[in-house]
Amino acid sequence: MPWKSMIVNSLNEAFAAAGAAAWGGLPFSELAADMTAESVQKAEELCPTPKTVLVAAFPYYAGEREGNLSLYARGLDYHTVVTGRLNTICNFLSEKYENSRFLPGADNSPLPERQAAWRCGVGLRGKNGLVIVPPYGSYVFLGTILTDAELDLPEHTPAPDCIGCGKCLSACPGGALGERGVEVSRCLSELTQKKGALTAEEASLLKAHPLIWGCDRCQQVCPYNSAPALSPLPEFREGLVDSLAPADLEGLTNRTFRAKYGDRSFAWRGPAPLRRNLEL
Ligand code: SF4
Ligand code: SF4
Repeated sequence: MPWKSMIVNSLNEAFAAAGAAAWGGLPFSELAADMTAESVQKAEELCPTPKTVLVAAFPYYAGEREGNLSLYARGLDYHTVVTGRLNTICNFLSEKYENSRFLPGADNSPLPERQAAWRCGVGLRGKNGLVIVPPYGSYVFLGTILTDAELDLPEHTPAPDCIGCGKCLSACPGGALGERGVEVSRCLSELTQKKGALTAEEASLLKAHPLIWGCDRCQQVCPYNSAPALSPLPEFREGLVDSLAPADLEGLTNRTFRAKYGDRSFAWRGPAPLRRNLEL
């Protein structure tokens, strides 16, 4: 079997074993077209002479469950889970390309993960700015691997756009979505995570919002999410924290809060924004 087919077959197996629903790869130079000069510089600081970016999608949907936390935040912290799973791919590739670096990232690297996924055809481009990977819908976490190895990957085709029904635009409580994309400052997911005082307008938006962390509205109304497949990953299916009540946070200092919830992605801002949102 030619070397190129061997590598692609091996990567197919390795990504499937790591729990990825889909993966793709593209030259760093192509992705750089979607990056600011500052992001390119940061990527080059991590990996001088970057050549290839791999991107993968990991499903997290755990079924219909009551709760006041966004669905993405109920399982273990996706940064840790996705990085750990990508590390298995990095180890596999490091054995084959001994002199190269392989750097995993999950929502914490300078690489634009969504653009990488769209460009590689990993998932459809949703009007809500998300990557849609049927049958898991947009309930996926993305992770990337940046490397200075010139991997011989197959031709990639950019994913098509979603059907463009517009339901996410009309359902967005913050008016954050428009034909030109997402206005992050109006997104309630961002607002719930904001530190410090809120403006009167922000506070009234959160008062009318059912979640104290994140916002799932544009995902819930999306036809691709009408019957999403369950995640096969136990980190996102078991031991979930669906809700927080004031009593759960009572008396916790920053340190004891981290001891209790430090393995969750909603913990990164400490207990203060959660308490404020609960009060609202
Ligand atoms: S997460 Fe909520 S506020 Fe943000 S774009 Fe989607 S619907 Fe709008
Ligand atoms: S709700 Fe409609 S327009 Fe929005 S992402 Fe889903 S399919 Fe696309």
